[in-house]
Amino acid sequence: MTDGLDRLAFDNRFTRSLPADPDTRNVRRQVSGAIYSRVTPATVVRPELVAVAREVLELLGLDPEAADQPAFVETFAGNRLLPGMDAHATCYGGHQFGNWAGQLGDGRAINLGEVRCPDGELRMLQLKGAGPTPYSRTADGLAVLRSSVREFLCSEAMHHLGVPTTRALSLTLTGEQVLRDMLYDGNAALEPGAVVCRVAPSFLRFGHFEILAARGEKALLRRLLDFAIDAHFPDIAAAHPAGGPAAYASLFETVAERTASLVAEWMRVGFVHGVMNTDNMSLLGLTIDYGPYGWLEDYDPDWTPNTTDAEGRRYRFGNQPAVAHWNLLQLANAIYPAVGDAAPLEAALRAFPDRYRAHWETRMAAKLGLERFEPATDVALTDGLHTMLRSTETDVTIFFRALAGIDAATQPEVALAALQDAWYRPKELVGSVLDGVRGWLAEYQRRLAADGLPDAERRARMNAANPKYVLRNYLAQLAIDAAGQGDYGMIHELLETLRSPYDEQPARAAWAARRPDWARSRVGCSMLSCSS
Ligand code: AMP
Ligand code: MG
Repeated sequence: MTDGLDRLAFDNRFTRSLPADPDTRNVRRQVSGAIYSRVTPATVVRPELVAVAREVLELLGLDPEAADQPAFVETFAGNRLLPGMDAHATCYGGHQFGNWAGQLGDGRAINLGEVRCPDGELRMLQLKGAGPTPYSRTADGLAVLRSSVREFLCSEAMHHLGVPTTRALSLTLTGEQVLRDMLYDGNAALEPGAVVCRVAPSFLRFGHFEILAARGEKALLRRLLDFAIDAHFPDIAAAHPAGGPAAYASLFETVAERTASLVAEWMRVGFVHGVMNTDNMSLLGLTIDYGPYGWLEDYDPDWTPNTTDAEGRRYRFGNQPAVAHWNLLQLANAIYPAVGDAAPLEAALRAFPDRYRAHWETRMAAKLGLERFEPATDVALTDGLHTMLRSTETDVTIFFRALAGIDAATQPEVALAALQDAWYRPKELVGSVLDGVRGWLAEYQRRLAADGLPDAERRARMNAANPKYVLRNYLAQLAIDAAGQGDYGMIHELLETLRSPYDEQPARAAWAARRPDWARSRVGCSMLSCSS
């Protein structure tokens, strides 16, 4: 073979270790007593490769040229299974918007198999939008270009920001049209179909355990826990060679810790997941399922990008830590039958707010360029910061980058001028708003003086914690609009820019600018639905 894909060595630990649904018909159904169902991706008429992430090619041990071969697009649009692949969809449940939703499962995601990567790790390849599975319920198993561009770009953007995430290898058009009612208002329209190939060590979610507990499948619950520990948490396996309840409790504590850290990372970069249902919570603590997510523009902890969430705002920016905690409670409930003792689970849940707080403080100290977070002064400093950021519409990404540029000993007017690009309504910078900003800056400068870090060193630290480039909501939408016209240039440009989100990249500075006014309330820019 010369298509380069023969370099992919499959080693399907997941399907080999866990029980399959004996039924191999691709019909929608409830699946019990199994973790997954074998299923073949749908064939598409005219696959066309839109974009590839070269770092993910490399991760898998593929040459960049491999993506130019026809076999690549055929494979990653779902038209062709490679030798060694073992395609399947998995069964999970979940709590959606706080309510138990029963069986969900991979309704439009098909795992192709696990690749032994050059770094020695196994990584699962997964096609999203590759056609119906037994878990598709009433939907079509497909995905559209709009949501696939968003998933592809944001997966890679998050990785380059240093935030744990599933990766995206490729974005492919299927050449088929898919019907979607984007705003759920009765105006369905045809949109281009697309497939993203996602890559992660595991796509296990809290919901995989919840469905087993809900069905009383205790033996299978234990088996999945044992598998997860052996495959993905070697430290726990080593510390608990006999496995069992102590290992499960330790797993829970580790998942709680990773989740706390993950959410603190989202808060650091201004990411709002938008649908933190328990089926969208990764057991590995990865960001997973990029749907109606959004990036904070002006600092507003009450903002949710998801129109389906507009009423309750459960998934608003500022509520993400609390929702993570609630989701962990659901995971604890699910694995309790295997642990058999509530105490260690309760202890880990009780510790979560402090764990999260510790992560958040570390991130805030980095964002502000402080040696460390000193509660005696910095609780008031960060409270004051957030009050100030809300006192007038302030672009939070621009604000922190500009703040890094201020010298500890500079004049108040110079400091103020340095921040001017961050304000959406500069005319509001008068009276008490202006006094508030001045007051906070003075406090901040006093705090910097107390630390005594040289300005250049502090600036470098801050610029490593505060990205200059994030996938601003309107930028993703512009790339989607152009792609709809057959122009993929902006997708490639954004991918390139977001590879180095902490670098200045002067030629691309326009993409670090404030959200333009036209995007303030445009669908796709500030309002997104789950339709995808
Ligand atoms: P999400 O809100 O995207 O996390 O999806 C929730 C559930 O709905 C998951 O089980 C998905 O697999 C399923 N789902 C979402 N969109 C589709 C679709 N177009 N076809 C089949 N299943 C879907
Ligand atoms: Mg999901």
